[in-house]
Amino acid sequence: MKLKDMPINELITVDHNCSCGRHHHMAIDHLAIGKGTVNKLPEFLADQKLADGTPLTKNDKICVVADIHTWPVAGEQVYNLVKASGYPVTSYIFQHEIMHTTEVFIDELENAMPKDVSLPLAVGSGTINDLTRMVSFHRNIPYYIIGTAPSMDGFATDVAPATIKGLKCSLPAHCASGIIGDTDFLSTAPDKMIAAGIGDIIAKYIAINDWRLSYLINDEYYCEEVAELMLNSTDKVANSVNGLVNGESNAYQYLMECLVLIGIAMGYVNNSRPGSGAEHSMGHVLEMKAALKGEYGELHGTSVGMATCVMAEMYKKFLTLDIDYDKARAHAEQFDYDSWADEIRRVFGTSADQIFKVYEKNQQSDPANVKRRIDRIEANEDQIRAIITETVKKVEKAPEYIDAMHGMTSPKQYTLFSEDEFRDILSYTKEQRDRYAGLQFFYDLGVLDELVDYIIDKYYD
Ligand SMILES: [Zn+2]
Ligand SMILES: [Zn+2]
Repeated sequence: MKLKDMPINELITVDHNCSCGRHHHMAIDHLAIGKGTVNKLPEFLADQKLADGTPLTKNDKICVVADIHTWPVAGEQVYNLVKASGYPVTSYIFQHEIMHTTEVFIDELENAMPKDVSLPLAVGSGTINDLTRMVSFHRNIPYYIIGTAPSMDGFATDVAPATIKGLKCSLPAHCASGIIGDTDFLSTAPDKMIAAGIGDIIAKYIAINDWRLSYLINDEYYCEEVAELMLNSTDKVANSVNGLVNGESNAYQYLMECLVLIGIAMGYVNNSRPGSGAEHSMGHVLEMKAALKGEYGELHGTSVGMATCVMAEMYKKFLTLDIDYDKARAHAEQFDYDSWADEIRRVFGTSADQIFKVYEKNQQSDPANVKRRIDRIEANEDQIRAIITETVKKVEKAPEYIDAMHGMTSPKQYTLFSEDEFRDILSYTKEQRDRYAGLQFFYDLGVLDELVDYIIDKYYD
């Protein structure tokens, strides 16, 4: 059986000898997504093991971690359910209106959660999940996430994105032992958070596209089964956007399943290729540039969703261009490191060193490297065009999907950045990480500047 044909409850515990030649493995103890699934909690607790493999007993203390928004939606209900099941239970409710995963809030939870807690239950999404994930990891105890907003794809992941000393980073943590996505909670989330979830999912069309390009151009490892699994799940969400607007339980179930699957798919291949391409890099650069202004910027899925709309337009325009490979080779030869480095210092300021480190390792604009890739692109032109054509067909409706929940579909709506700043972001996002993606592909073919001009004209007329 192929991965795409398995139900999600099999995928969380799979041990799969894959047609890609690798072995895919995942071990999440408990997962329940659907209407009323919070009521599965007592069953999950009865079957829960502690880190040393011994069972959780009714002497083990459970702590419900929530905030002022998630407590009334779901936290109180979870608390009462645990109490009625006979476990000693306590709660910690963050009192802040706005929270981020920073050292301040990590310390707050570290200090507030009693030391004898055996199992924290995070009731929330993004930040509450990340904070609880980190503190439970430090204490070597399992944790559960009871999602209240389908806003991001970090439910089934073992890293925690955080901002430490003002810098965005990814901290080691562990994956939740239990994930509950009760659609009665999820469907009450604010539109903005649902739009962010849609954005983070529609991004997968670009992510898989970029992974496929790199497989053809750089011989990078690629798994067709994982790619198909992601695309199928993404299609399901794309086809049920109306259901999200109408608050239908099924639609929220597909959305949450897809957000959880992204983490699972990344776990299978041990990297984030199934979930992140040029659009996620652009999202990260938006976060970096926001941090340089002392701001947190938009939600992850909001930035990534908007970046997906932009990438969709770039790929669509790309298909109309005639590629002149000799001109591309001549363009590659013109690269001048010193003037490039001046630009990087101008655009990334105090974060420029991070970019230089990526270049040291990657040498992405070195003429010999670029020309080697141009040869591969030329040799695989038909296949590459077919991949991009298929992607554009799926992703060109991204603005429609995101707009259905009143999300962000244009860089102009991201008012923290000016037109000139967004031009820089488009031109230099490709330097952000050691990963081949769409914007580098455009650079290789000597058409990045032309496409950037096109995008800026289109959105900022
Ligand atoms: Zn595989
Ligand atoms: Zn994401």
